[in-house]
Amino acid sequence: MKKIQMVDLGGQYQEIKEQVNNSIEKILESSAFINGPEVHGFQKELEEYLDIKYVIPCANGTDALQIAMMGLGLKPGDEVITADFTFAATVEVIALLQLTPVLVDVDRETFNIDIEAVKKAITPKTKAIVPVHLFGQCADMDAIMDLAKEHNLYVIEDNAQAIGAKYLSKSGKKQMAGTIGHIGATSFFPSKNLGCYGDGGAIFTNDDKLAHTIRGIVNHGMYERYHHDVVGVNSRLDSIQAAVLRAKLPKLDGYCEARRTAARKYSNAFAGQQHIIVPKTVNNCDGICDTCDCHVFHQYTLRITNGKRDDLVTFLNDAGIPCGVYYPIPLHKQKAYLDERYDDNDFPVTNLLVKEVVSLPMHTELDDEQIDYITKKVIEFVNAK
Ligand SMILES: *Cc1c(COP(=O)(O)O)cnc(C)c1O
Repeated sequence: MKKIQMVDLGGQYQEIKEQVNNSIEKILESSAFINGPEVHGFQKELEEYLDIKYVIPCANGTDALQIAMMGLGLKPGDEVITADFTFAATVEVIALLQLTPVLVDVDRETFNIDIEAVKKAITPKTKAIVPVHLFGQCADMDAIMDLAKEHNLYVIEDNAQAIGAKYLSKSGKKQMAGTIGHIGATSFFPSKNLGCYGDGGAIFTNDDKLAHTIRGIVNHGMYERYHHDVVGVNSRLDSIQAAVLRAKLPKLDGYCEARRTAARKYSNAFAGQQHIIVPKTVNNCDGICDTCDCHVFHQYTLRITNGKRDDLVTFLNDAGIPCGVYYPIPLHKQKAYLDERYDDNDFPVTNLLVKEVVSLPMHTELDDEQIDYITKKVIEFVNAK
């Protein structure tokens, strides 16, 4: 059996090696390292793939979120609601801009932001909601967009984990994750579903004015050379990363399907097991169905309900199976984001999930032998006396 890895990027590289190496060599010969034709080419191709008017590439996913908030003109004291159960980047940029983060609990089945909790958190100071499409599945965007409309709020989708996922809205329209709110932000970190070979990110919007504003912000607030109209940042996707992304983008749907196939095999193997709750896909389709394209399984995350999650992690690691706990600490309990406004009782789901979740190896190169071995070991552990 091949050595099991949490993420295996080597196999993907072999398939695109010639194209990537040729493109990088051309960039080295041309010296067009920044804002070269590869960056513009990738931007156009991603706009087409997402069916969105504007993609603005930037340096990483954290920058993408920060620039989105700057672009919307959010001001210190404005409240921004986001999920307690996510990677810290989401809340970090809110705090960095001196906006007021308002963390709320998540849904126990989807791990995504809880709509009732969002409703309760809205005040006259609320300016934006940042749903995170956690582990590769969209938050309840219908409900979020309705709330945003009712209360005149902006919606910034943190799409770092869900590029390529689709969202079937109640109107019957299927939209790409990250293109439903006012702005979408994504990351091309190597281990993300569309990853480059360094850092990268992008901002998406359909709004002409916002796109213009954001294009200036990523470039030192310049709209005309050496005229700085607003305070900006320096955040660029470089040509070499863009070349890697151009080679991978045509394969993204295939990558997503490979992840879904692996997820289906995992979930079929775990069916009926006590102490294991498999991830639920909900986009107006129930369970993991064969035609469902709503979940792109950035992570395949189980809940282990017998209180022995940590022992399982040790057991799997000893058996040569890497796994991850995303995320072990709720954001409202992180030192940097402690706030007396939070009542720990308002986060029952996050407080439970941090003790139960474990993510199994998930990437495009998992084979049946590896999946069989992993599922056997997990089942062996949960059934042990
Ligand atoms: C990865 C990630 C980010 C940050 O992306 P970087 O490119 O690493 O800055 C933000 N939000 C979520 C949910 C992520 O998973």
